[in-house]
Amino acid sequence: MDKNNRKKQNVYISEEEKTLNWDEIQSSFSKTFGNEIYTSWLQKISLVKEYNDYLILGVPTRFFRDWIVSRYLDKILELVKSFKLSLNRIEFKIIEENKNSSDLIKIDELNKVTEIKDSILNYNRLNPNLNFDNFIQGKSNDIALSYSKKVCEHISRYNPLYICGGVGLGKTHLLNAIGLELQSENNVMFISAERFMYHFIKSIKKNDMVNFKDFFRKSSVFIIDDIQFIRGKESLQEEFFHTFNSLMDKGSQIIISADRTPMKLDRVQERIKSRLAGGLVVDIDTPDLELKIKIIKKKIIEIENQFKENINLSDDIINYIANETKTSIRELIGILNRVIAFSRVHNKILTISDTKNILKDVFSQIKVITVDKIQNVVSNYFNIPLSEMLSQRRSRPLARPRQIAMFLSKKMTTRSLPEIGRRFANRDHTTVIHAVKTITRLSEQDDEMKKNINQIKSLLLE
Ligand code: ADP
Ligand code: MG
Repeated sequence: MDKNNRKKQNVYISEEEKTLNWDEIQSSFSKTFGNEIYTSWLQKISLVKEYNDYLILGVPTRFFRDWIVSRYLDKILELVKSFKLSLNRIEFKIIEENKNSSDLIKIDELNKVTEIKDSILNYNRLNPNLNFDNFIQGKSNDIALSYSKKVCEHISRYNPLYICGGVGLGKTHLLNAIGLELQSENNVMFISAERFMYHFIKSIKKNDMVNFKDFFRKSSVFIIDDIQFIRGKESLQEEFFHTFNSLMDKGSQIIISADRTPMKLDRVQERIKSRLAGGLVVDIDTPDLELKIKIIKKKIIEIENQFKENINLSDDIINYIANETKTSIRELIGILNRVIAFSRVHNKILTISDTKNILKDVFSQIKVITVDKIQNVVSNYFNIPLSEMLSQRRSRPLARPRQIAMFLSKKMTTRSLPEIGRRFANRDHTTVIHAVKTITRLSEQDDEMKKNINQIKSLLLE
């Protein structure tokens, strides 16, 4: 099946794909992964060679390659794919660091390229790393997990199986696990709705709808990810509806995922919604603390096994990470990777405050800090009424907190000095400058002041 897939995809590749602007892609890496991961890892990736449907990227060492492939490849592929839709795999080539860039260009003979099994991530291909064994059960995914397994035992008993839940909660993982489980005895088709559309459009352009229909309708297990993608796309819905019906008619098992329940899919035809809801609908909820901790511990063991070394993260740190990540398991794993990467790069056993530091900008990106918020937190911290802190009175117990609040407003928001002055009962910007200077000096000289500032900062970032 894989072979067929590949063949089909090659047929669909359009000739007009542009060449990539690697700098642009690098800057999107930096935005997506954050500075720490970017400078430690991704910045060092070079573009060696570009083909229609795949890329060869250069990395400095074998360790580097394995680390990137195991941690970031999915995301890298997804990102680069947003620049080049026809892309479906990435290969890495190890390039010794002392080679200069003119050598890079010469490395284009395909047969010299080391193909790593895992890096050939064909889009329609199942990922062997997303299986039932490493899917961790918790209250939030219990039902979805158990029915996913039941589907594998009794094909077409629950048909279609519809798994819904928010971003990064494990839908694709479950779908992939089902595919892996069933692929030895069935013709499994696993595709995202987006990719389905890509093939659909290409085959219209090539006037090749007959092949398209055959291709998708011959599967005995049809797994389609992120079906919400079809919203608003009428002709795609039409095609999907017929594919769906013809698969159901011949008794194929259908498994679908979406970010919401069938009836909540807007701009999707009613008849499709009722088909989707016609089997079994199960949902995955946001993870509780217990599940998050289990996942972190499991991931640590995986990394230890993979790299044959100890990862030393205290329970405090594990709890901190689990508590701070609220919404998705993908985010949780991303943050864990970031912490582990940092400790590896700096060869250091982290303390809880190291961890907080590493993650400060991750969490503060999510939180918007405003002058209002700073004023509130500071007045609470010093236990003085906000109105007093903003008043014209100059006594030290009021003036210092006021100056601290101004200082933090300058450091932690994007407001200008005059804007900050206005927020502090219409003071002049020179008053703000004076405050910033005073507190900067004091926080260098005075331990008490330094401690206060740090505590207030962490309150703000909490
Ligand atoms: P979704 O498709 O719902 O957006 P994914 O299936 O891509 O989410 O999951 C995001 C990440 O979290 C993946 O790396 C996945 O392996 C991991 N993950 C999600 N749930 C679990 C779980 N219960 N146990 C282990 N890993 C999980
Ligand atoms: Mg997904």
